[in-house]
Amino acid sequence: SYVTEMNLEEDYEYVETPHLFRTELWKQSGHYDNYVDDMFLLDVNDEEYGLKPMNCPGHATIFNQASWSYRDLPVRYAENGKVYRKEQRGELSGLSRVWAFTIDDGHLFVRPEQIESEVDDIMDMINEVLETFDLDYEVQLATRPEKSVGSDEIWEKAENQLESVLENSKMDYDLEAGDGAFYGPKIDFAFSDALGRKWDGPTVQLDFNMPERFDLSYTGADNEDHRPVMIHRALYGSFERFFMVLIEHFNGKFPLWLAPEQVRILPISDDELGYAHRLKNNLEDNDFRVDIEDRSWTLGRKIREAQTDRVPYMLIVGGDEVEDGTISVRDRKEREAQDVDPEAFVDHLVDERADKREEPTFLDESE
Ligand code: ZN
Repeated sequence: SYVTEMNLEEDYEYVETPHLFRTELWKQSGHYDNYVDDMFLLDVNDEEYGLKPMNCPGHATIFNQASWSYRDLPVRYAENGKVYRKEQRGELSGLSRVWAFTIDDGHLFVRPEQIESEVDDIMDMINEVLETFDLDYEVQLATRPEKSVGSDEIWEKAENQLESVLENSKMDYDLEAGDGAFYGPKIDFAFSDALGRKWDGPTVQLDFNMPERFDLSYTGADNEDHRPVMIHRALYGSFERFFMVLIEHFNGKFPLWLAPEQVRILPISDDELGYAHRLKNNLEDNDFRVDIEDRSWTLGRKIREAQTDRVPYMLIVGGDEVEDGTISVRDRKEREAQDVDPEAFVDHLVDERADKREEPTFLDESE
C-alpha cells in the first residue's frame, strides 16, 4: 500500500500484464536469446509460451497500443508484477532467490531531454524509502560498457544527466566506469542487512535498446517520429528479498505500521472475552491488525508468548478493566501502564502509525 500510494502520487498509471506470452514476444525483447535458460517455457496447443522473467516487454507492448505526441510524455506505468525465474534447485535460497517473486516495477517512456527531471523524481522516491526504513546503503553509477547499443550522442547526454542528478542529490556514490548495461547507464543501490551482507536494492536504468526492438515512437514538435528512452525503475526490487532484509534489520521488531500483528489483547479469563471483542472491533474499525489470545493460559504465559512474537502492544484486560471501561497497556519493551482510556490509546496509535515510528511510543512518558 505504501509504495502504491507513492506511485499514484507521482502520476504512475497502474497496469497489469499477462504472466504468459508467446515466445515471439521474448524473441523480440531479446530475453529468448540471452535468458532462455532461466525461463519457464510451456507448450500450449503446439505453441511455445514463456512465463515472464521481467515485466518490461509487457509494458512496452502496452505503450505500443496508442500513438503518442511529445506532449503526452513522460508516460509512467507501474505494476507490482510477479516474475518467474528458473533458478537451479541448489541456487534457491530463503526469500532471496526464489522461482517466483514480485517486483515493484515501473517503466517510464520519456523524451531524451526529460531524463534528468524524471530520474530526479525517482531519486526522491528512493530517498523516502531509504529514510523510512533507515537502511544502510551504497550507490553506484555505472556507465557505458565496451559493447553497447545506442549512439555516442545519446549515451553522453544520458550519462551527464544521471551524473548531475547524483551531484544534486549530495549522495556519496561510486563511479563504475564501463559497468553499465549494454542498453544504457544505470544507478544501482545496494542495501546492507544486519549481518553486513549486501543485497540489490533500488535501481534506475536507462534503456536505448528496448524502444528499438519494439519500434516505440512518439511524434515530436517537428511532426517527425522520435524514439522515446525507456527508464526501468524499482524502489524495492523484489518484495520478497526486501522483506528478508527488513526482518534481519528490525530483528523481527517491526515498527507499528509494518507489524503483521499490531495489537494483541490478553483477557485474564473468559469472563473478559466480550469486552476484549469490543476493543478488537474498535481497533479494527481504525484499520489495525488485532488478535485476541483466548487460550486458557496463565497471564504470565500469554505475555511471554506475545513478547516472543514481538507484538508492539499488548492490552491486558481483567475484571477491574471491564468494570472501569479501561485497559492495561504493555509494550514489547516491557513497559506497562494501568487505567488507560481506550480512546486515548487508539488516538495515539493512529499517530504512531502515520509517523512510521520505529519503536512503540505510547508508554514513553511513563518510563
Ligand atoms: Zn524493466
